[in-house]
Amino acid sequence: MSNPLILDGLRVAKEIHQKTQERAQKLRKQGIVPCLATVLVGDNPSSHTYVRMKAKACEKYGLTSVRIHLPEETTTEELVAKIEELNRDPRVHGILLQHPVPSHIDERKAFETIDLEKDVDGVTSHGYGEVSMGFGQYPSCTPAGIMAILDYYKIPIEGKHAVVIGRSPILGKPVSQLLLNRNATVTVCHSRTVNLPHHVSQADIVVAAVGKPRFVQGDWIKPGAVIIDAGYNKGNIGDVDFEACLPKAGAITPVPGGPGPVTIAFLLKHTVDAAERTLNAKQHVKQDLA
Ligand code: NAP
Repeated sequence: MSNPLILDGLRVAKEIHQKTQERAQKLRKQGIVPCLATVLVGDNPSSHTYVRMKAKACEKYGLTSVRIHLPEETTTEELVAKIEELNRDPRVHGILLQHPVPSHIDERKAFETIDLEKDVDGVTSHGYGEVSMGFGQYPSCTPAGIMAILDYYKIPIEGKHAVVIGRSPILGKPVSQLLLNRNATVTVCHSRTVNLPHHVSQADIVVAAVGKPRFVQGDWIKPGAVIIDAGYNKGNIGDVDFEACLPKAGAITPVPGGPGPVTIAFLLKHTVDAAERTLNAKQHVKQDLA
């Protein structure tokens, strides 16, 4: 087979960041500084790193961020109260609750507290439902990033068989819906799927969102398939055995440098989208009063 195309997430992210930065600068000139609030509960070192990366990206591309760090022993009620406070804060346009939260917290309840207009990470069931119906504002960021990579490289989706491994509410399920909305035929696999290698071997597009290092094997892959590795495990290792899958793939994302950077690009883009919506709403109110 000819050399597979390496799908470069950094390149895709750069293009999205450029546009986001221009839009953020325009907003600043109109007196609005797009602002992402990140909420971190506890001291998980990886979560710390992710939140820091997101705040740094905000700074770099003309947004601002508010970092809320709550102690490990925070209760569900305290977390909900903090999110409600951010919902009411007009300076905050997007809210990101870094997950996982400590296990004693009702994570779903905390997610559902986020105002739909500020749900830039697409974690509420309302936001998810709207995206699934094809009209949502903010799809979950990694699924949005995966679609952007496919589109950037003009990979055909319609009529293709996509096999998604994983069904989490932030990744597997929403990416399946986005692929379905683009007329792919979608198979969603999970931990109870029988004969997973057989399903994967039927795929024109494989999305790995399992959370297990080097899980997807080379001999599962149909020659020429497009492989998107959404996984990110300790030591910068994806959910796909890259070396083994490379000779079979038509195109493949590396880890790092695949959907990861595009995920952050979408978080910032969605925050700027949300800030623009507040500006538009203000302008409508002015017109109505005039
Ligand atoms: P998750 O919530 O743990 O979900 C994992 C999914 O994989 C579940 O649906 C599970 O099935 C399925 N699964 C587990 N073992 C399996 C097996 N042996 N065979 C088939 N399916 C299996 O994980 P997630 O949050 O979706 O994350 C998935 C991966 O993406 C992780 O590596 C994570 O680090 C990465 N990630 C990356 C980004 C980024 O920005 N790049 C963002 C989010 C996540 P059940 O539902 O049956 O349990």
